[in-house]
Parts: sequence; structure tokens; C-alpha cells
Amino acid sequence: MQKQKIGFIGLGRMGAPMSRRLLAAGYELVVLDVNDVAMDALVEAGAEKAASPRDVADRTDIVITSLPKPDIVRHMALGEDGIAAGSRATIMLDVSTTGPSAAKEVAEGLSKVGKQWVDCPVSGGIKGATEGTLALMVSCPNATFETVKPVIANFGKAFHVGEEAGLGQVVKLANNMLAAAAVFLTGEAMAMGVKAGVDAKVMLDIINMSSGRNSASQDKFPKAVLPGTFDFGFATGLSYKDVRLCVDESETLGVPMVGGALVRQILAITQSKYGADSDFTSMVKLIEDWSGVEIRG
Ligand code: NAD
Repeated sequence: MQKQKIGFIGLGRMGAPMSRRLLAAGYELVVLDVNDVAMDALVEAGAEKAASPRDVADRTDIVITSLPKPDIVRHMALGEDGIAAGSRATIMLDVSTTGPSAAKEVAEGLSKVGKQWVDCPVSGGIKGATEGTLALMVSCPNATFETVKPVIANFGKAFHVGEEAGLGQVVKLANNMLAAAAVFLTGEAMAMGVKAGVDAKVMLDIINMSSGRNSASQDKFPKAVLPGTFDFGFATGLSYKDVRLCVDESETLGVPMVGGALVRQILAITQSKYGADSDFTSMVKLIEDWSGVEIRG
């Protein structure tokens, strides 16, 4: 069977390695990014260049988006020269973290022109995107899931959360709130130990064999805090956006999120101090600053 032709919009830290995996799997690819350097690198690897989201949707069967903000995803889909106006693509699959409201809104806009929305937020970072080991949180009708399955199998393991638009996004927001909370709380715990005189590496090793271990203690601290590089690979601005969307969603649903709201504030302070492009492990720099210690191996 002829493979579907794929469009890929947003060739950033996640989108670039994911696009490369599709090329390696033999898919024909049409790409678009506002950053010419990012686009040229993919064209050199064998992809075709597009001029607009509509152009991508005119030339491909499935359009994948990996973009930083819900507003950009909305605009790509439903704005002028957007994916909705394209003549060929019948499916838009969004791997960005956009939140359930944007997912529902875009799904509705696309359905008016006979196109299907798939929310497919991902977790696993740049490493997972490069190695094809991401967790994929997919919501779309069952038949559409069967259509996209062979394509997204190149990115990792797909979990079909449900048929309703936005359900994958809800799971993703919950996950990212937990990931950010883990960085912040592990930072507080580690700063206390180090200030009291415990060696940071010894303390982390103990936590990682004990009941307090978590994704930050096992992954982010050894890679980006103990070496003092603060370069894990996930931007403060993106983490802030995710936790903000998460707290907003819980409020809409009438569910308490006291801890999540606190993490949102910490990310707001981290962003104002270190910038949106800083790594989200910079939350720990904030704690180091407050407590007057450095957590180093
Ligand atoms: P990124 O900023 O590295 O990449 C975004 C890309 O989109 C950039 O190349 C940018 O030039 C491009 N872009 C922005 N506006 C555009 C427009 N109007 N038209 C075309 N291209 C445009 O971000 P990323 O880290 O790759 O994350 C992308 C999405 O994936 C975000 O929603 C993020 O929350 C999510 N995500 C990121 C990670 C991670 O570890 N980095 C993990 C899981 C999910």
C-alpha cells in the first residue's frame, strides 16, 4: 500500500527529530517553519519545502503540527491560508501541548470543512523524539486512530485516550504539571540537605533508592542540576504555559489544584528572572538563590 504523504509544521526541538524519523521510515515529507535554518536542514535531509500551512495541506494527506502555543496552532489550522483551506489533507494531528479548549475549538473548525482533528500530545523530551520512545496521548475517533497509527508508531507508544477532542491534552497537562512540581519540590528538598552539610550526590543517590524518588531526582537533577548546566531541554516558557493551561482546566472542571497553582507562580517568577527561553530546571536556580547554596555534584 502507498504510504501517506505527510506534512510537518514546526521543526523545533521536538519537531525536527520527529520529522527525521518519518523520513528515515520512508515517508515523503513536506515541511514548514518560520525559521529558515530549521526548514533548510530538513530539506537537505530529503523533505520538500512549503510556503504556507494551506500549501502543506494541499500537498499531503496528514498534517502534523509541533508548535509552541495554542494561538499559533489555532492560526495554523483556521487562520488565513490555514490547514482548513487545503485541498488534500483530511487529518490534522497536533503533537504540541495546546490544552483541551484549543483542541476542541480547532476540531470543530476543521469538522466544518470535512477534516478530522487528532490531539496527540507527547511526553519523553528530545531524547524520546530522537529515539522514537515518546508516550503519545491520542484522542480521535476509532477509525482515524487506525489511519494514523502506522505514522505515529514512528514516534513511540500510542495510548488511545478516547474519541473526544481534548482528552489527550487533559492527560498531558496533568503529566506536565507533575513534572514541573517534581523539579520544584526536589529543588527545595535538595537545597535543605546541602545547606545542612549533606553532599548533593550522596543525597540524590539515597533519594533515588528511597520513596521520594521522582522524574526530577532520577533524570533532571543528575543531567542538568548537579553539573550546573541547567540545560535539560525543556523551556521555562513552555512549562509555564503547560501548568497555566492545567490550572485553568482544573478550574473549569471545578477540581482543586492548590499545589499546581503554586507551581504556576514559581514558573512565572522563574520566567521573569531567567527568561522564557531558559531551561525549566532554572526553577532550582531560584531556590539556590533564595537559600544561598548550590546543589552540585
Ligand atoms: P520549539 O520552540 O523548539 O519549536 C517550535 C518550532 O515552531 C520552532 O522551530 C519555531 O520556529 C516554529 N514556529 C513557531 N511559530 C511558527 C509559525 N507561526 N509557523 C511555523 N513555524 C513556527 O518547541 P519544542 O520544544 O519543539 O516544543 C513544541 C511543542 O511540543 C510545544 O507545544 C511543547 O510544549 C511540546 N513539547 C515539548 C517537549 C520538549 O521536551 N521540548 C516535550 C513534549 C512536548
